[in-house]
Amino acid sequence: MLTKAALFRQAGAPLSVEAIDLDPPAPTEVQVKVAAVGLCRTDLHVMRGERRVAMQPMALGHEVAGVVETVGTAVGGIGPGDHVVLTFIPGCGRCRWCAKGLHHLCAEGPRITQGPQLDGSYRRRDADGRDVGAFCMIGGFAERTVVDQASVVVIDKDLPLDHAALVACGVPAGVGAARHRAKVNPGDSVLVVGCGGDGMNVVQGARLCGAATIIAADIVPAKLDWARDFGATHGVNAQGEALTRAVLELTGGIGVDHAFVCIDPPATLLAAFRATAKAGNVVVTAITPDTVKQIEVPPLELFVTQKAIMGAVYGFMSPRVQIPELLRLYRQGDLKLAELITRTYALDEINRGYADLEAGRNLRGVVLFEH
Ligand SMILES: [Zn+2]
Ligand SMILES: [Zn+2]
Repeated sequence: MLTKAALFRQAGAPLSVEAIDLDPPAPTEVQVKVAAVGLCRTDLHVMRGERRVAMQPMALGHEVAGVVETVGTAVGGIGPGDHVVLTFIPGCGRCRWCAKGLHHLCAEGPRITQGPQLDGSYRRRDADGRDVGAFCMIGGFAERTVVDQASVVVIDKDLPLDHAALVACGVPAGVGAARHRAKVNPGDSVLVVGCGGDGMNVVQGARLCGAATIIAADIVPAKLDWARDFGATHGVNAQGEALTRAVLELTGGIGVDHAFVCIDPPATLLAAFRATAKAGNVVVTAITPDTVKQIEVPPLELFVTQKAIMGAVYGFMSPRVQIPELLRLYRQGDLKLAELITRTYALDEINRGYADLEAGRNLRGVVLFEH
């Protein structure tokens, strides 16, 4: 069938919204009518050529909630009419990581920038008959998509799908980094560098963990105001050495127990590292452009301060566990989702949505489809 999708055709160029041909689902796949898809910064890195993908054209978009229309003959536990959130890393269920429940580390993860479906074939073609890839095996900037059941989490039908889409990427990435990677404890102090989609959710994750001090750092003043609404106790508009100095001042010269690097790690990690207390944690939740090969941290400083530098993808927890849990927290009023959505767009307006993200005007933009 024909479906409208926003395609990445060339680095540095806007996305191209066009009609593509979408095949029906293979035996282990499901067809989803997309209801809402978030405008995550990761797709912007792809558009700029900073996060290389293996082919063009490719349908981007990976923060999706929608409704299942049809399922393949071998699909279990998912049926037409089910409301679903898609996971940007598939959980194959067979690799050593999935066997341990660590879906966020699935052996298939490195293939999400390649383009094909989980089974290696394609379901999309453009008007010229060329194969169209699906970013994250999702290709969610589209009216409809076809994905393997390994990328699907069924959710309750009464939840608003625009809010549910956010627990596909940004919310688990941030909240989970605080809860599951750093394991923030009640009374701890936290620094969040970069209060966008991930960072704001680290702020609310730290609040959920009972952190006593949550320092939000950003160079966009509006984001510091928003961060207070999500639980930040302090705001710092500074970067580099000035940021480190400001955080040390706020913590009596000791530094924070946990620092989170949620934007541009090459530029922000050292300042965050030096603002962290001895034996503290530095968690990187943000993507670095492929072209950057190393980050500057003096090894002797790492050794003597006994700090841990760690990465967190998907909040370091299986999305199969985390997505339902986050939606429960949302339902009982402990997790803000509606407040994350700054603006909504039609698919045709997607490039305006990304311009708003680049200009710092959006916490989260969301493309909505009529249902
Ligand atoms: Zn994302
Ligand atoms: Zn796996």
